[in-house]
Amino acid sequence: MELLKQRIIKDGTEIGTEVVKVDSFLNHQLDIGLFMALGKEIYRRFGHLGINKILTIEASGIGIAAVTAIYFDLVPVVFAKKTQPNTMTEEFYGAPVKSFTKGTVSIARVSKKYLNENDKVLIIDDFLAHGEAAMGLASLVEQAGGTVCGIAAIIEKEFQGGSKKLRDAGYLVDSLAVITKVEDGKIYFKD
Ligand code: 5GP
Repeated sequence: MELLKQRIIKDGTEIGTEVVKVDSFLNHQLDIGLFMALGKEIYRRFGHLGINKILTIEASGIGIAAVTAIYFDLVPVVFAKKTQPNTMTEEFYGAPVKSFTKGTVSIARVSKKYLNENDKVLIIDDFLAHGEAAMGLASLVEQAGGTVCGIAAIIEKEFQGGSKKLRDAGYLVDSLAVITKVEDGKIYFKD
């Protein structure tokens, strides 16, 4: 998506060759006008699949998932929690997820009340790197007997292999901007 690519070129910075920082519009300050364009584009790509729920993971996926839901006829948005708060006393589905940014493993949790066998789910995340988060979220949907209709990433770093891993596992994956490499202070895109 050209608009997003241009925004990454304008405002994104790289940390070494592995991490892209887009705090000014996606991971700290949120550009809601941009989110609306991204949500509309996600609907264009996934809107024909009968999706009735959107699933993401805290924290950075929540904003974009919420705005995208507007274009999917206000379907519910559920976000997996990475820790078990005192308030989560009910039963939950859980899947281990290795954090790309911290390197630690946490259990992504969703209450059994919010996922079920009738769910046709679109998984959304801000970044797709090694595919750990998306794979964990897909597991939560499947534990509930629901269907993963697709996985949408805002920014994919193709060179880290997550999309290949997810496609090899049979999932439909589509990303709005695909980065092929980060080298010598420059971010390279597919197309
Ligand atoms: P994965 O699970 O696919 O390895 O990594 C995806 C998760 O790690 C996303 O939820 C995202 O929050 C974080 N992440 C991965 N790569 C980056 C990156 O380059 N920049 C930022 N800001 N977050 C990233």
